Amino acid sequence: MNITFHVMTGVAAAVVLTPVGNSPKWKAAKLLAGFSVGIFLHGVFDYLPHWHPFASGVDLMLAVAMTLVAFGFTERSEWTLVGACLFGSILPDLIDFGPTMADIMLGLPVPSLPFRVFPWHWENYSGSVYDGSNGTASAVLHISIVAVTGLILFLWPSMFKRNGGGHKNGK
Ligand SMILES: [Zn+2]
Repeated sequence: MNITFHVMTGVAAAVVLTPVGNSPKWKAAKLLAGFSVGIFLHGVFDYLPHWHPFASGVDLMLAVAMTLVAFGFTERSEWTLVGACLFGSILPDLIDFGPTMADIMLGLPVPSLPFRVFPWHWENYSGSVYDGSNGTASAVLHISIVAVTGLILFLWPSMFKRNGGGHKNGK
């Protein structure tokens, strides 16, 4: 699946987790939960049948832009949570495809593993579709991710910078 959609699920996970408990213990648990949920959802979405709506260059730019926007709109106190969620949601691709992409796009000779670590990137378990089949399922999947992420952003805005109130220091 395009990285852009993985970034969306990472942001959504962070948004959902933000309002949950704020003691130091909770904060640590949330980082772990966000990271794990990110990896888990990455697997689920890669397993389900999907096309790749964006070419990898466009995909990478969208993903980076979305990441910057997410951090830009987020309270600084939640940056680690956003970071953990995003890191989990893109980690499988970083490990399995990062070296190849760095080589193709930047000409960097990053050593890659001789096998893919995550089962949803193996031929048997990957839902990647390249022959034009399963178009409806793929469209439903992508639209659902966008819609659910949008709904979550709308319903749980507490991660984002509060508007108004002028300059309040010490908070
Ligand atoms: Zn993947």
